[in-house]
Parts: sequence; C-alpha cells; structure tokens
Amino acid sequence: MQLYHDKDADLGIFDGKKVAVLGYGAQGRAQALCFHDSGIDVTVGVRRNGKSWEKAKEDGLKVAEFADAVKGADVVLMLLPDEIQPDIYKEYVEPNLKKGAALEFAHGFAITYKLIVPPKDVDVIMMAPKAPGDMERIVFTEGFGVPALICVYQDVTGNAKKIALGLAKGLGSTRAGVFETTFDNETYTDLFGEQAVLCGGQTELIKRGFETLVEGGYPPEMAYFEVLHETKLIVDLINKGGFELMWHVVSNTAEYGGLTRRERVITEESKRNMKQILKEIEDGTFKTQWRQEWADGLVNLKAMEEKEKQLQLEVTGREIRRLFERKN
Ligand code: NDP
Ligand code: MG
Repeated sequence: MQLYHDKDADLGIFDGKKVAVLGYGAQGRAQALCFHDSGIDVTVGVRRNGKSWEKAKEDGLKVAEFADAVKGADVVLMLLPDEIQPDIYKEYVEPNLKKGAALEFAHGFAITYKLIVPPKDVDVIMMAPKAPGDMERIVFTEGFGVPALICVYQDVTGNAKKIALGLAKGLGSTRAGVFETTFDNETYTDLFGEQAVLCGGQTELIKRGFETLVEGGYPPEMAYFEVLHETKLIVDLINKGGFELMWHVVSNTAEYGGLTRRERVITEESKRNMKQILKEIEDGTFKTQWRQEWADGLVNLKAMEEKEKQLQLEVTGREIRRLFERKN
C-alpha cells in the first residue's frame, strides 16, 4: 500500500478556505479541535437544540446550523453517525453544497452503499483515522498523530488527494503515516473486522468460555476473571508486539496449551461462516438488513441490548468491576 508522511502533505491547501465539520461527537470534536489548532478555518455544523451546540461553543469554535455551515464551505466533513448521514445530507448538504467543494467522510458506508449520491461537480474523499476520537485528540496534543487512511472517490478539481492529505496532516496523522485505499475496501474491511473479530467474534468467544466454566460447576466470579478480565492484558500484548510478544510473555504452559487447542475453538466451520459474513457485507445484504432495522425504530437492536445486559456474565461483571473502584 502507498504510505504518505508529512512531506507529502501541505496545509497550505486550506489557505483562504472554509472547512465545515458536521457533527461534534467522537470524531467531529477531536477533528475540529485539531484542525483549529493546525490553523484551519473550521466551523462546526450541528443542530441548535442538541448537546453539541453548547459544547462546541464552550470549546471556542465557530458554530452554525447544518445549512449555514455548508453554505460557502470549501470542504464539508460528514462526521455524523452513519445511519443519520443520508437524511442530513438530503436536507441540508445537497441543497447548499457549492460546485467544486470537497465532500469528506471518515468511513465509507454511505458512499459505498450509495445511500449518499453526491453531485458530479464536487470532490468526494475520505480521511479515516485509525483510532477512537478521544485518543486522536490526546496523541495530537502530545505532538504526534494516529495513523489514518485516505481515499479519493471523485476528483473534479484535481486537488482531491491533496485535500485528503491536508486533513490527515491537520490531525497529525502524516507524522505517523497515512495509507491510501478505496471507499469499498475501507467499508468492507471495517465492517468485517467489527462483526467477525472485534465486537462480534470477541464477545461470543468470551461468552461461550464463561458459560463453559459455569456449566462445569465453577463460580461465575472465577469464570469472569479468567475469560473476560484478563482479555485486556493479552490484547494489549498482541497490540504492542504481535502474537510473538504475547507468547513470549505468557507462561510456557499457556503457550503450549493455547497453540495446541485454539483450532478446536475457532474451526474451519467458523472460517466458512466468516467468509459468508464477508460476502453479505460485499453484496449489500448486511447494509439492507441494517437500514431496515433502523427504519423499524431499532426494535430488534434494543431487544438484543436488553438480553445482553441480563447475561450472567454481565451481571457478574458489574459486581466485580465495582471491586476495582477505589472507595476513598
Ligand atoms: P457520533 O455518534 O459521536 O456523532 C455524534 C454527533 O452527531 C453529535 O454532534 C450529535 O449531535 C450528532 N447527531 C446524532 N444524531 C443526530 C440527529 N438525529 N440529527 C442531527 N445530529 C445528530 O459519531 P462518530 O464520531 O462515532 O462517527 C462519525 C463518523 O466517523 C462515522 O462515519 C463513523 O463511522 C466514523 N468513525 C468513527 C470512529 C469513532 O471513533 N467513533 C472511528 C473512525 C471513523 P447532538 O449533540 O446535537 O445530538
Ligand atoms: Mg473500524
């Protein structure tokens, strides 16, 4: 993959330009504050009656309603929840987006699945930082940045990539490194990661492990410590130094046991299911299902959240985590 650093990006691309950051949540707040500190002329676009309005004002940024923020903006960042973006786009962005402006995203969902179809006379780009918003801001204030991805979907001005790289520089990301990819690749890999491994796969692994111990007659508190609490320790090691560091740090018993047993836990069948999950992401099946769920008022999602809260693992966890809180 092509990798870019500071020397490949120029903040001068924003001289005399106005940047509208729509949304002031996890990404919107971190990005708007970093861009402002990098000397970019930022206006935050949010609804007047929402929580973000006052917050952005308190943070010392210019704030406007969506339509006003978009009018006259040269770059418009869609940093709203993915499921909200299509409606906000239709109502406030499309009618006010000027010819030759750049429409920017932090995730490819809306563009890849054509939930937003931008006009032919604007640039369409992505700059996706590979971290949660609050971490981006902390790393930036420490004088560095988190790695990011950039993509160009539509380039009418000939500057699309320069703008994407400029935004990455404004966030400090070019200090770390910026990879170039496509909207489709970013969307599909991101969704697959969260479904099969990070959020879906991991919780199911922990849940099944917990059930196995409890059904085997062991106390839930012990089960919680062994399958959930220590996950962080192991994941931190893998994140820092790969499997190699983790295997090196754990006991030889853990290493031998893990290496000889893991393929009985996640099997060839699991991998076939992962491939099917990926296919449903690529062919739009997942997108259609999720859009329908949203249109139905998230009834199933709310029911699953309720069921999840009642898991014995979660009940036990709430008790145990309280023990880690200092009382004075
Ligand atoms: P958030 O959920 O944090 O966005 C919250 C913002 O959206 C608030 O300003 C809120 O305003 C506004 N908002 C929410 N609902 C509505 C609504 N119905 N009408 C108007 N405004 C609304 O979003 P994220 O920052 O998590 O995600 C933004 C984009 O960044 C997404 O594309 C996501 O995929 C991507 N991304 C997110 C990452 C993350 O760390 N979370 C990481 C990388 C990419 P108010 O206060 O008025 O409610
Ligand atoms: Mg992701």
